[in-house]
Amino acid sequence: MESYSNEQVSLDKMKSLHLSFFVVCTLTLLVLAGCSNKSVDEPAEHRVQKSPVDLFMPGALAQDVEIVDCTLSDGTLTSCYKITVVGTPTDHKVGPFCPRTTSATADEVGIWLDGEKLYDVTGEFILNLPTIYNDDHWMLHDAQGDVRVTKTKEAFEAAARPDVAEEYENYCVEGRMEWLEGGKPVTTTVQIPISPVAMDVPTPARAPLGVTFNGVRIDAAAPVDAILGAYTIAAFDDCGGHVNPFEGYHVHAATGCGEVGEALQGETPAFAIAMDGYLIHSGQDRDDLDACNGHTTEEYGYHYHARPAELNGVLSCYMGAIVQGAQGEPPRGGPPGGRPPRGAGPAPADAGSAPPVPHDHH
Ligand SMILES: [Zn+2]
Ligand SMILES: [Zn+2]
Repeated sequence: MESYSNEQVSLDKMKSLHLSFFVVCTLTLLVLAGCSNKSVDEPAEHRVQKSPVDLFMPGALAQDVEIVDCTLSDGTLTSCYKITVVGTPTDHKVGPFCPRTTSATADEVGIWLDGEKLYDVTGEFILNLPTIYNDDHWMLHDAQGDVRVTKTKEAFEAAARPDVAEEYENYCVEGRMEWLEGGKPVTTTVQIPISPVAMDVPTPARAPLGVTFNGVRIDAAAPVDAILGAYTIAAFDDCGGHVNPFEGYHVHAATGCGEVGEALQGETPAFAIAMDGYLIHSGQDRDDLDACNGHTTEEYGYHYHARPAELNGVLSCYMGAIVQGAQGEPPRGGPPGGRPPRGAGPAPADAGSAPPVPHDHH
């Protein structure tokens, strides 16, 4: 067990403790009568018991959470949770994704989001694709009204590649959990600071952005331009998730799934923890959010609200420091090939409206 006593040495550390207190407080507010500053002095064991780790749903963690030493991107040496999520949502089924026929209705299918709009992937949507994307090459169905869907692992892997072969153009792409390596969900392990450290400059969000309390990873924005450019629709289920061969099931959007607890008035419930240790609450239309879609409230401390699902990407940046060399962070000097990913480098002033860095796979 890590000792917390040295965290009380400096004022700075006190501040971060304070932040974690707010997070901790948030989690217990529903259970306890109140939350006073006195609990900052509570014994470490008590605080740990009320950590975000306790928010994970039964079965969401592949192994016990460990506390490990870690170094944050600003050089802070601190303690992190090492969390491994199971890679399949514990509170809802995976899918459905693509429609089978051009008469499929919304309850039979998933969704598509392109950075501007969110659609149910209904038969009507399939029929309207040439109009929606103003291009007559779109034709995801045959003369009988059957939709072309990736029905084998091979077809799926070919169609989910960034360089889609022509024969897999005009496919609705969906993966199945049973096509994953060994037929098993893909676990994701992340290190997340126990006490978030606020930064002066936001960091662009990268995959994974965080993990959800129902046991899956949140990826950055889906590469919508590449997907549409190949005349494919990489459908999501109604929870904003889909399956790829590398990451298994992962989500690109928050649609209200996996929420834990009841929200306080004027708030939405949390459903995930971001890589910087702040919680992510469901989206909320409000005008007091910062560039990274976060704000501070008395009850919850600093926390994020997910960006609207249609914008593609749950967060565009972090306000807190993330673990140095965290999974998904490019090596120093940028990615191989020299072309910096969109959104890399210092966050622009309007980072809140900039799309998150896309990842290479659907
Ligand atoms: Zn809020
Ligand atoms: Zn994806």
